[in-house]
Amino acid sequence: MVATPERGRANPAKPEWHVGASDDASLLASPPSCPADPAKPEWHAGASDDASLLASPPSCPADPAKPEWRAGASDDASLLASPHSRPAAASELARESYDHRVSDLHPPLLRWYDAHARDLPWRRTSATPWGVLVSEFMLQQTPVARVLPVYDAWLARWPRPADLAAEPSGEAIRAWGRLGYPRRAIRLHAAATAIGQHHGGEVPDDYDALRALPGVGDYTASAVLAFAFGHRQAVLDTNVRRVLARVASGIEFPPDAVTAVERALAVDLLPGDDPTAATWSVALMELGALVCTAVTPRCGDCPVRDGCAWRSAGHPAHDGPPRRGQAWSGTDRQCRGRLMALAREAAGPVGVTAVERAWPESDQRARCLDSLLSDGLLVRVGAGYALPG
Ligand code: SF4
Repeated sequence: MVATPERGRANPAKPEWHVGASDDASLLASPPSCPADPAKPEWHAGASDDASLLASPPSCPADPAKPEWRAGASDDASLLASPHSRPAAASELARESYDHRVSDLHPPLLRWYDAHARDLPWRRTSATPWGVLVSEFMLQQTPVARVLPVYDAWLARWPRPADLAAEPSGEAIRAWGRLGYPRRAIRLHAAATAIGQHHGGEVPDDYDALRALPGVGDYTASAVLAFAFGHRQAVLDTNVRRVLARVASGIEFPPDAVTAVERALAVDLLPGDDPTAATWSVALMELGALVCTAVTPRCGDCPVRDGCAWRSAGHPAHDGPPRRGQAWSGTDRQCRGRLMALAREAAGPVGVTAVERAWPESDQRARCLDSLLSDGLLVRVGAGYALPG
């Protein structure tokens, strides 16, 4: 069994989510009982419309007792799937039905995670909050396989925030290697410094204090609280948002930016106690990474397939705004990456000739050099460039 992220208060050994006693089939959520009708606009409206996230999968509007586990979990009536108002009694029934089906999701996914989770260093019980914070910085834009060697070397060299803060930020950039988006290295170095200055060298166990650290947004703060400290905290990364959009909202992809509705749904779906909620959060993430992938979801292997609204609806195609691609060749990102690699691999300052050779297109090169200087990733040394000392 792979250790789950429960450090601090969460504990993967706790039996409450292994649920071995129950009959598997009984734990799976039932699919919506009415036939799929992807033409119905109320549940696959444009992804940019918040309300669309709450729309029902194949809806059965004639039967208020079957809201089909729509997002209307909370007391907020606006979160109910149907665009039509419901009488109070029906809302109560909806809430009851929703709660029942949400709780049905937990055992199969948690069991699946127990059996299939990858053994990653930041998930082990030996991982420190600092190790979790480092992993979250690195994983923000970079796949696990590329992060692993850099992460191991980073933690071996800088096992505590103070170790990193004691060295120049240029060393952090150098150690960041080819993970991309090297501003993350600068911010992680600044976060390590702030942790030493304001938190006695320990990663804070507090949302606001985490958010105040350089480079830490809502996602990273939530992930650290859940995975380092075992709190009941909704964690909305790309994988989780995609899984929730499919399972609960019946749409292939979530909107570009996190909406309040998505956040409310994610909170509603959390199991009630801290350790199980923390494991649920990482299990959703793992399902999105391994099974419910963006392009080729493996629904046949999915532990929540019987309760998945998008699958039940027949996998209707995305009809929201076009999804952003990840262009690389010829972009400023590629140019910046090449200039950073030059500086990282050089023993001293890099001369102008080498810079021109690395990226011949002069306007783009000048623009990228300016942005690297302004981001603090490079400094001028005489007529050349180097990592900050
Ligand atoms: S059934 Fe398919 S689409 Fe639904 S959550 Fe599972 S893998 Fe994703």
